[in-house]
Amino acid sequence: MEILAFGVQSDEKPLIEKAFAGKHEVRCLDVFLNRDTAPIAAGYEIISTSVNADLGSGVLQTLAAGGTQMIAQRSTGFNNIDLDVAERLAMRVARVSYYSPYSVAEFAWTLAMAVNRRVIRAASRTRDFDFRLDGLLGRDMHGRTVGVVGTGKIGEAFTRIAHGFGMNLLGWDVVENPACVELGMRYVDKEQLFAESDLISLHVPLLPSTHHVIGKDALVRMKDDAILINSSRGGLVDTTALVGELRAGRFLGVGLDVYEAEAGLFFLDKSLEGIDDDTLARLVTFPNVIVTSHQAYYTEDAVGQIIEATVQNVDDYLARRGSDNVLVPAPPGP
Ligand code: NAD
Repeated sequence: MEILAFGVQSDEKPLIEKAFAGKHEVRCLDVFLNRDTAPIAAGYEIISTSVNADLGSGVLQTLAAGGTQMIAQRSTGFNNIDLDVAERLAMRVARVSYYSPYSVAEFAWTLAMAVNRRVIRAASRTRDFDFRLDGLLGRDMHGRTVGVVGTGKIGEAFTRIAHGFGMNLLGWDVVENPACVELGMRYVDKEQLFAESDLISLHVPLLPSTHHVIGKDALVRMKDDAILINSSRGGLVDTTALVGELRAGRFLGVGLDVYEAEAGLFFLDKSLEGIDDDTLARLVTFPNVIVTSHQAYYTEDAVGQIIEATVQNVDDYLARRGSDNVLVPAPPGP
């Protein structure tokens, strides 16, 4: 069996080849799956895709017409996949429901502390042998209040670090996580969380009910000097509204690892051609904003676990076995 893997970063390629070695052939492509690249999958029963792959109706139909019957998505989030259409086309879809939550939680903290302590500005100054401290004033996290929006696996790991800093813990979720309550988290409604938190970090999935959960209303409730971090999904934040608030001089810092229109930009080198996205172009100009391109998960630990689970997902499909990773079950076996 030869498997076609889309959207493979150069760091990942040897890991993927090693993980599949002795089991299946794997052809790794650096291009992402979309309408233009879907025809490459013709003849491949199993393909593997990465975050930001276009697995909407049109692409799924092209894949099905080419004989693809199984999609092994190498991410937790699956908001990019039209599961109803996949089911109608009798395609099995599996994702990676668990991998190191520490990768994302630690990166969310990396962004929070980098904006708080002005690390980018400080490092670029010292490269110019400018050793002044003006404009670099940060603040202690100890004793301040953090609001964690979504206290599942990643939110809990993020909360444990906040607890280590000695912060007051506020949480908002549809279900309370007893481990967070044990750390001293107080669950409140989201309006209270926005109003009282010095640092707000987003860890809910992107769903119709969470789309633009950080819109104009939420933003105006936040403290003028709050820090906002999004390492979950871009669609949680109304970016146009956020740019408006930043233009008004609000927020101590904003760290974004995800962006609602990131598909077609993130993971690609656009440095020579530039980008046709005025919102993102404006966002990266604010001195108190850091944008990274969906790299929170990108540690050797998490990537290794994602690949291992993907190999298992392929084996489960071939054996017609179920698992927690299956989003759309396999069609009946031969
Ligand atoms: P999880 O399922 O363990 O936790 C999600 C939490 O959100 C749960 O506690 C759930 O109850 C809560 N939730 C769900 N719907 C909600 C709603 N409508 N309102 C309020 N709370 C709601 O997931 P996780 O592993 O912690 O991952 C969280 C998200 O992080 C993923 O969905 C994904 O979007 C994102 N993520 C980002 C990266 C990255 O590299 N930037 C990597 C992995 C995951």
